[in-house]
Amino acid sequence: MADTFKAVKGMNDILPPESSRWEHLEAAVRRVMQRYAYQNIRTPIVEHTPLFVRGLGEVTDIVEKEMYSFEDRLNGDPLTLRPEGTAGVVRAVAESNLLYDGPRRLFYTGPMFRHERPQRGRYRQFHQVGVEALGFAGADVDVEVILMARALWQELGLEGLSLELNTLGQPQERKAHREALIAYFEAHAEALDEDARRRLHSNPLRILDTKNPAMQTLVDAAPRLVDFLGEGSRRHLEQVCAMLDAVGQPYRLNPRLVRGMDYYNLTVFEWVTDRLGSQATVCGGGRYDGLFEQIGGKATPAVGWGLGIERILALMEEMGVQVDAGAPDVYAVVPDAQAWPQVMPALEALRAAGLKVQMHAGGSAGQGSFKSQFKKADASGARYALVFGSDELARAEVALKPLRDGAGEQRLLPLAGLAAWASELSAA
Ligand code: ATP
Ligand code: MG
Repeated sequence: MADTFKAVKGMNDILPPESSRWEHLEAAVRRVMQRYAYQNIRTPIVEHTPLFVRGLGEVTDIVEKEMYSFEDRLNGDPLTLRPEGTAGVVRAVAESNLLYDGPRRLFYTGPMFRHERPQRGRYRQFHQVGVEALGFAGADVDVEVILMARALWQELGLEGLSLELNTLGQPQERKAHREALIAYFEAHAEALDEDARRRLHSNPLRILDTKNPAMQTLVDAAPRLVDFLGEGSRRHLEQVCAMLDAVGQPYRLNPRLVRGMDYYNLTVFEWVTDRLGSQATVCGGGRYDGLFEQIGGKATPAVGWGLGIERILALMEEMGVQVDAGAPDVYAVVPDAQAWPQVMPALEALRAAGLKVQMHAGGSAGQGSFKSQFKKADASGARYALVFGSDELARAEVALKPLRDGAGEQRLLPLAGLAAWASELSAA
């Protein structure tokens, strides 16, 4: 027997009817983006590896162990499948000087790749929607992007998502905090696990992000960044809070909230749910005023977020949100292949009038019995069966048979009147 192929572990096919849930979500995303005047950007899935190393930070989970990297077969350039969207967008915007005539509001959707242990809500190819507001320094835009996520939850009928908020201050403030942290953890070196010891000097802030329960007490008592914040950072956070209050969006200030990439400063936030187990974060983001410079561009303030489409879909499922599976309006029952030349133009007319039409296609085994065709018509979810019987066709008519409650009575339609009927139906 020949070998059969399976999808790569952690990378999923998205098949119907599941794919209709994806389309539903993507349509909602587009509506929200338009409402906030964000424009779509599409960047390559492959980027030069140093973009991520420099952009995300050397001592991050993603760069240390999650990237799919390989060499260009011709010149040996190190390349990487994008693990997130922001670095590529910033690269593209800087490269094409897109901010030449002012700030931009952008969004993207697409696959991301991280070599993680696959589990529910955690995959190796997963999909994100992201927004990036580039060239804006004010707290107003921080709040704008936060509210866009909220608008999306509303659009999708999702409830119970809560907002966690923190500030990471400015680099100078973080530096002072970082030194205090190192001193503190050094004084408690015996209580550190291996991971923490390794990070002590490279990235002590990440120790606060530990998932090791044995280190929790130590981490809880560590020096806090708030105590190192200057006036500007404090004000920025206050402004964010005041605007969230003004729009009635509750939030929890969480001083332990740090994010997986090094590029963030000032505002950081996460939208979390208690309904997806340990994959609780559905959307995370913040301000990254230093990233443009970090990757060689002109200093540019920026803020954005990324959300995991799989996690949003899981949450929709969990909450029982129903999605239109895209059933056809009409299923064409075609008892006899002789009718094909009359069926084709009739169905094209229905589709041109905007109806969703599924044709019964019998093929070499014949058209199949009336009964089996009706079974398929019913299973398709169509509202109507349109029966192209030879007797009716001889009189230039077709039989219209409602398949669902409320779809009216069975009747005959003149072939010539099909388009008019279809227009009526799509207008209704
Ligand atoms: P986590 O802490 O769950 O690993 P993260 O901080 O690594 O998340 P981000 O890099 O901020 O996640 O990505 C934004 C969003 O993308 C996350 O909030 C999550 O919804 C989603 N996401 C991240 N990694 C994965 C993955 N491997 N599979 C599915 N979704 C993911
Ligand atoms: Mg992660």
